[in-house]
Amino acid sequence: MTLKDNVSARAAILACVVAAACNSAPAATSDVSPAAQGADICRAAEVGVQVLGSGGPIAEGSRAGTSYAVWIDGRVRLLIDAGPGSFIRFGEAGLKVSDLKAIALSHFHADHSAGLAGILNSGSFEASVEPLLLIGPAAGTAFPGAGGFVSALVNRDGGAWSYLAGYIEGGDGRRVLDVREIPAQDAASAPTVRTEIAQDLSVVAIPVRHGEVPSLAFLVTAKDRDIVFASDQSAFSDGFERLLRDHKPDLLIAHHAIPEGEGQPIGLHRPPTEIGRMAANIAPGMLLLSHHMDRSFSRVPESLAAIEAHFDGPTMIAADGTCVGL
Ligand SMILES: [Zn+2]
Ligand SMILES: [Zn+2]
Repeated sequence: MTLKDNVSARAAILACVVAAACNSAPAATSDVSPAAQGADICRAAEVGVQVLGSGGPIAEGSRAGTSYAVWIDGRVRLLIDAGPGSFIRFGEAGLKVSDLKAIALSHFHADHSAGLAGILNSGSFEASVEPLLLIGPAAGTAFPGAGGFVSALVNRDGGAWSYLAGYIEGGDGRRVLDVREIPAQDAASAPTVRTEIAQDLSVVAIPVRHGEVPSLAFLVTAKDRDIVFASDQSAFSDGFERLLRDHKPDLLIAHHAIPEGEGQPIGLHRPPTEIGRMAANIAPGMLLLSHHMDRSFSRVPESLAAIEAHFDGPTMIAADGTCVGL
């Protein structure tokens, strides 16, 4: 479905994003964090997507590494990626691990996964025995799969934090991680995999090209809203574009990791022109740019111009804490 024909709904969305963006300026008169302010917006929305980390792999300013929370009816239900620093935004937003039904990890670059142990550790202080789905790519030549990654963190035998082995073994009222590995090494031929998380929440994992890193984009359907998390991907992600052509999701989140121009790692990321082409092809109700780095964020006007040459829908810039209510 799309909100493109619903002018008042679109205006409401824009108001939400603008409010969150305004709130993300340094707080001069309020001690309330941008993530807490964004959480208020997401809590009031039927479906909300909150940016917990809008940064990339380099420690630059106050952006946390990539992470997004999907809210439904006032509670967080799904976490997409857990970059370093997202733990802090998670707490500022007042989120509870026990509210999560699933965690989906796009790939095992540290800027998307290094915060997972902290989130799990926090969850170990909460009472819940419901299994916690963990969706991620299967192993590639130089990267672990989701199962191997979890094992390296919390396995009783050799895990870095083996005291959290309850996440594998259960017992002591611990939630067991139900790990689902999605083949993604060969993005051109790997199939998409749909997982029903709850009655009103599903995720389709879509293999994408991100250099040689097994990587997944996610199409999340929460109630009847469609949200596409494009994840780290290059413009060589043909299957992704074919699958989502004219899909018209309510929201497309793209990663603004590189600026336009020569010398950029286009085997890893889409430059703004290719983000614009992707958005024109998929036709979302709104495009949200995240995963900013100084090299790209310092050239936002140029990036927006390159995107607008192809995509004429609304494009917003994510900050840590930003909520898009849908
Ligand atoms: Zn990244
Ligand atoms: Zn990456």
